[in-house]
Amino acid sequence: MAKKYEHIFFDLDRTLWHFDENSKKVLNDIYVYFNLDKSIASANHFIEVYQEVNEALWALYRDDKLTKDELRWKRFDDTLTHFNISNNSKAIQMGDYYVTHSPRQTLLLPYTIEVLDYLSKKYKMHIITNGFKEVQYIKLTESGLLKYFDVIILSEKVGVKKPHPYFFKKAFIEAGSNADNSIMIGDDLYADIYGAQRVKMDNIYFNFYNTKHDKIVQKEISCLSELYEIL
Ligand SMILES: [Mg+2]
Repeated sequence: MAKKYEHIFFDLDRTLWHFDENSKKVLNDIYVYFNLDKSIASANHFIEVYQEVNEALWALYRDDKLTKDELRWKRFDDTLTHFNISNNSKAIQMGDYYVTHSPRQTLLLPYTIEVLDYLSKKYKMHIITNGFKEVQYIKLTESGLLKYFDVIILSEKVGVKKPHPYFFKKAFIEAGSNADNSIMIGDDLYADIYGAQRVKMDNIYFNFYNTKHDKIVQKEISCLSELYEIL
């Protein structure tokens, strides 16, 4: 990438903060804390169903077809319903438990700190995230990431989410940057990569699990340490 970048915009969840592992840990705790072993054979099965449900509901949330509060409890409600143990008040308690404990998990993707140490000497770095504002700051603080970032841009504050171009344009203004001197790094082909493409910002797709896809991407990595070579 020949261009001279000055600003890097990072996504947070699944790009730096190890969302999948951190989430699994808390879902395991929920399985134990709420005595789900009585009705669901294994924590893994519970987690598997929850993840499927959550993914479908997140897509609705991203398209503004579901509110944040609905998403929080409905993902547990739908999961319990799947196992024929529908229980509204328990689902709400689980939602609260999850939102309280999950942002306090601190596992990061491999090489996060090393790479941020390296990049912070060369670039101004920012976070651009669709995650909930109450939890994103806790994650950043608890996992020692906050100090690396100049501006934290939250979709909830802006009013639209990635991949909406207005969100990225707002991010440029807050960071004092523009599409030409910025690059986006994220794990989501739609929110992060398509979003960056729409505002003509260069981008790097972080495909940690080497998932097959048919999108044309400018640059793809499967480990953050590859950024040493690129940036
Ligand atoms: Mg992400």
